[in-house]
Amino acid sequence: MSATPISGTKHAFQAEVAQLLHLVTHSLYSNKEIFLRELISNASDACDKLRFEALADASLYGDQPELRVRIAFDKAAKTLTVTDTGIGMSAEEAVSHLGTIAKSGTREFMSRLSGDQKQDAQLIGQFGVGFYSGFIVADEITVESRRAGLPASGGVRWVSTGAGEFEVETITREERGTSVTLHLRDDALEFADGWRIKELINKYSDHIALPIQMEGETWEEGKEEGQPGQMVKTGEWETVNQATALWTRPKKDITDEQYTQFYEQTAHDWQPPLAWTHNRVEGSTEYTQLLYVPSHAPMDLWDREKKAGIKLYVKRVFIMDEAEQLLPRYLRFVKGVVDSADLPLNVSRELLQESRDVRAIREGNTRRVLALLEELAKAPAADTPAPAADNAEVTDVQDKKEAADKYATFWREFGAVLKEGLGEDTANRERIAKLLRYASTTTDTASVTLADYKARMKEGQKAIYYITADTLAAARNSPQIEVFRKKGIEVLLMSDRVDEWSLSFLREFEGTPLQSVAKGAVDLGELQDEGEKQAAEQAAEAVKPLVEKLKEALKDSVEDVRVTTRLVDSPACLVVKDAGMSLQFERLMRQAGQAVPATKPVLEINPEHALVKKLEGNPHFDDLAHILFDQALLAEGGLPADPAAYVRRVNALLI
Ligand code: ADP
Repeated sequence: MSATPISGTKHAFQAEVAQLLHLVTHSLYSNKEIFLRELISNASDACDKLRFEALADASLYGDQPELRVRIAFDKAAKTLTVTDTGIGMSAEEAVSHLGTIAKSGTREFMSRLSGDQKQDAQLIGQFGVGFYSGFIVADEITVESRRAGLPASGGVRWVSTGAGEFEVETITREERGTSVTLHLRDDALEFADGWRIKELINKYSDHIALPIQMEGETWEEGKEEGQPGQMVKTGEWETVNQATALWTRPKKDITDEQYTQFYEQTAHDWQPPLAWTHNRVEGSTEYTQLLYVPSHAPMDLWDREKKAGIKLYVKRVFIMDEAEQLLPRYLRFVKGVVDSADLPLNVSRELLQESRDVRAIREGNTRRVLALLEELAKAPAADTPAPAADNAEVTDVQDKKEAADKYATFWREFGAVLKEGLGEDTANRERIAKLLRYASTTTDTASVTLADYKARMKEGQKAIYYITADTLAAARNSPQIEVFRKKGIEVLLMSDRVDEWSLSFLREFEGTPLQSVAKGAVDLGELQDEGEKQAAEQAAEAVKPLVEKLKEALKDSVEDVRVTTRLVDSPACLVVKDAGMSLQFERLMRQAGQAVPATKPVLEINPEHALVKKLEGNPHFDDLAHILFDQALLAEGGLPADPAAYVRRVNALLI
């Protein structure tokens, strides 16, 4: 802690704040109006916080039981003031909350800034910038505040022009809570206007569960002939928003636009959501859920500590953010609110863990989100042409197409997270399996469902084949699938880190086993005709001595060497035993710092390949054998254990 006295002193903004301020005022210029949404949102949060703290100490309300937000303006003075009766700030809090960036999300956001104005403006638009957005329209901001519970003498005034520093002094303030006064820039005087402000409240803050009030105005004719009339304030405060929590209203009374705005405010995501589900659940556990699927992944989706974005309310009282018990981890991208009628108001995170009601809500939420995704996924794939429709059906077809695009978007952003559900949520595994989408040897985009695959299976095909690799290109070109390609057998191509792990929980889909083509010997069963089988056996017989020699030469590196029919263009490839982890997965685990026992792979060779034919009786047999092995390793995405030796061997042959 620094020893600088707080009152009557100038403080410099933290460097990041100064940077953010610069960016805000320069890049949000074309979207000025959002400042009001941000300030009202802060005021509303402050009231929520007071309500919550007062659960433990009702005296915090003092003699002001009302929680509300008031917006006043003065055209002549060019000011706009947002006042709340919320928790307020002490002088120390004003210095730290309005002078530094505490929120990790904001810091993360700052670190992503590129310095490119246009790109950064887009980022910032998605992110929401809170209090500092006031400086888009103001050349000076004055905050006066008093924290609930402090005496009137414990008030604070904070003033800044947004240029590097702010000033703080203690003041006497009779009322609890905060008022933020913007001194409007000349090009932002439109906001010192009752109609304009009402329009914005309507647009952004209608659903806020607090009354937002403005002083009434009436039209007064000019007193004398020729003198213009004007709006004059009546001195009465009127509530200008609906002031009921959106989720408590009947669905039919809520427009899509209102749902979207509610999302934007609660999730602090300024891009419209993909879809939502809103339900009142009755029965032994009563609650209301309003859950949204965002349209883009947050920056911290892969953060293992990331909590679910659900706000918990109990009987309309805000209890906590990020109530992670209300959704399984694999649905952590979902945002929204749950309002329980049964939980006690003083519920803690620890209590949530043990509550039966919470378990019921979590299951209910999971079912609803899966149903919502199923709804989106039901639409025909976006790249199949819409069926010919007469006019009456046109909108329906468009809806479906739009839904298909939405599911593709969902899958792109969150598919890899949903896959975790195969391992995490046994009860819903079948439902999740139907939501999976993969690329394949016949389709470039990740759009193939397991059901699509099954429907296209060849006569006599017994398994759903897939391959995992580090990248889609590596999967697509991997030697292991050559014979499948030749015979026109579709193979699912997977390159998400989570694929192999998640599929270890999905042994079959609707009665058909899933089979990695990189594991075990290839057995195409009935897909091979008798002639092919005989030819393969003869070839195997013929190279038996060669196989034995290879085993001996490579005995430190391979578990076994065998002849395969899976290769067409490549001389050799590596596979693992049926139950083992693939070599790619082993590498992933090692990169993640896990201790993995080194398994020796099986080298499979193609007896038809010129290189293999050359091996027999070759004076460089030992070098060639090692090259064959190392190349198979490279093709599969690995690295030779001794890269220098590999290079030396290849060079020796080249010379
Ligand atoms: P955010 O609200 O996203 O945390 P802001 O920059 O908008 O970020 O605000 C920073 C902090 O200042 C808030 O977290 C809060 O602690 C405090 N604050 C802002 N406005 C108010 C207010 N009206 N009443 C009390 N505290 C406030």
